[in-house]
Amino acid sequence: MDCCICGPMAAIYRPPRNTICAPCYEGAKAIVASLDDADDDNEQLAAGAHAGVVFKPARGPLINRNNNGSTKGMREVWEHVKDMRSMGEEANERARFLSLGFGPNAAHTDIVLRPGSGPPIPAHKAILAARSEVFRHMLCDEERVKAGPGAGGCVTLPELAHDELELLLGFLYTGTLDLDSTETETGERRLRALLVAADKYDVPLLARVCEARLAVEVGLANALRTLEVADRVGGGGGGKLKERAMAVVVEHAGTVVFSEEYEAFAARNTVLAVEVTRALLLAADNAGAKA
Ligand SMILES: [Zn+2]
Repeated sequence: MDCCICGPMAAIYRPPRNTICAPCYEGAKAIVASLDDADDDNEQLAAGAHAGVVFKPARGPLINRNNNGSTKGMREVWEHVKDMRSMGEEANERARFLSLGFGPNAAHTDIVLRPGSGPPIPAHKAILAARSEVFRHMLCDEERVKAGPGAGGCVTLPELAHDELELLLGFLYTGTLDLDSTETETGERRLRALLVAADKYDVPLLARVCEARLAVEVGLANALRTLEVADRVGGGGGGKLKERAMAVVVEHAGTVVFSEEYEAFAARNTVLAVEVTRALLLAADNAGAKA
């Protein structure tokens, strides 16, 4: 079908012969519906006067749900997209602004964080304590122990490599994860390490960010590694990452279970291996019931 949105003749608007294909129709409906939902959320947030965040006034419903003639259509959607883009740019600027207190040029640092490998990174106790309950307790204890001269110390985070610690600190200072691509092995390794760190140091926002990004990337190649880490942190996001990884393992069971990686995995995670067996049997049962 010659769709007036994505078809080869789409450059020309040709009333009354404009037709729309199913994917364009469904996509447009979904975008409009999700923007209407976002508007409802924004109204609630604006009522709470969220500090420093500017919310545009609601533009009114984009789809005519009750036939009152107030449809605004896709042109209005474009205005929303532009708003969102500028909000995104504003968020990036905010992150850049906040990151000024962090890094090699940071001033008045009062603690040094030592990773398991690589050079240490100076930081500010006040930031660490404000962002993580675990750091707060750790630093309080440290002050109590070393009330005398020489206080100001150093905390070691042996489980993190230098680059991972840098990302963790970057997130604690700015609330954004400065990690572009997770498609690479390194990016994925960093995400897994950060998820474990987010769990250990009690930074739920970082855990959610890491889980969401890992969930997008989970596939045959990394399903076992992802399952292992998701199980380890107990799934702050309601165990969704673990569910997703388990589903991939079940889907590719023939390849995964007979791999050498699975032998090592099962030796390390006996309980999890039992869970995999049960999931496989359930899947086989369901497939049998459907047939
Ligand atoms: Zn189309």
